Amino acid sequence: MNEPLVASIPLIGGQIASFVAGAILGSFYNVVIHRLPLGQSIVRPGSRCPSCGNALAAYDNIPLLSFLILGGKCRHCGSAISNRYPLVEAISAILALVLFRRYGLHPQLPIEFIFCSLLLIITMIDLDTMEIPNVLSIPGIALGFGFSFLTPRLSWSGSLLGIALGGGVFYLIAVLFYLVRRKEGLGGGDIKLLAMIGAFLGWKGVIFTILVSSVSGIIIAIPLMWRSGNGLGSALPFGPFLALGAVSYVFWGQLFFHWYFSTLLGM
Ligand SMILES: [Zn+2]
Repeated sequence: MNEPLVASIPLIGGQIASFVAGAILGSFYNVVIHRLPLGQSIVRPGSRCPSCGNALAAYDNIPLLSFLILGGKCRHCGSAISNRYPLVEAISAILALVLFRRYGLHPQLPIEFIFCSLLLIITMIDLDTMEIPNVLSIPGIALGFGFSFLTPRLSWSGSLLGIALGGGVFYLIAVLFYLVRRKEGLGGGDIKLLAMIGAFLGWKGVIFTILVSSVSGIIIAIPLMWRSGNGLGSALPFGPFLALGAVSYVFWGQLFFHWYFSTLLGM
C-alpha cells in the first residue's frame, strides 16, 4: 500500500515547483506589462517603486510574499503598491499549477502556459493602453503555428486554418463595421490577436472564442456604457474578452464541443 504514497511525493513536489515557477514568471510578466507600452527595456534596470523610484531589494521583490509582508506598501515611501502585481503573479502561479496537474511534464504544459501567459499580458496592456502590441501578437501567431508540430492536439494545417479564420473573419467584421458606422470599432490589434488565438487553437477555438467574447462583452459592456452615459460609442478594449474566450476554450472547449455535437446534433 506504500506505492501511491511514493508516487505522490514527486507529484506534490512538481505541484509546488510549478506554482513557484508560475509566480516568478508572473513577476516578470508585471515588468513586461508595465514597461513594454513605454518602450522601456524589460531586462534592465531592476524593479523600482513607481512612486519614489527607489530600487527594490531582492527580498522586497519576492512574488506574492513581498506584497503580503510589506502590507501592499513601498518600504521607502509608503505609497500603495497596485493590487495588479500580486494578481498577475497569482493568476500565473495558479495557471502553472492547474496545467501541471492536468498534463504533468507533457509538451502541452508549456504550450498552453505560454499561450495563456501571452493572453494575460495582452489583457493587462489592452486594459491600460487600449492597444494590443504587435510585438506580442505577431510572434504569437508564429509561435502557435510552430507549436502545432509538437503536439497531437492540433495539426499544422489546423493551425493555419485557425489563423486564416481568426484573421479573416475579424477583418471582415471590421470592414463591415466601418462601412456601416464610418468609424473604427474593432482595432487591427484585435484582428491579429484572434489570428494568434486561431494559430494556437484552430478553427473550433476561433468560433468558441468569438461566441464567448461576444456574449461576455455584451453582458459587461452594456451596463458600463449605460453608466458612463456615452452610449454605444464609447470605446471598450475587446482584447480582454477575446482572451477570456480563448482561455475558456483551453479549459472547457473540448467539453463544450463534445456536448454540442453529441447532445444537440446527436452525433
Ligand atoms: Zn516608493
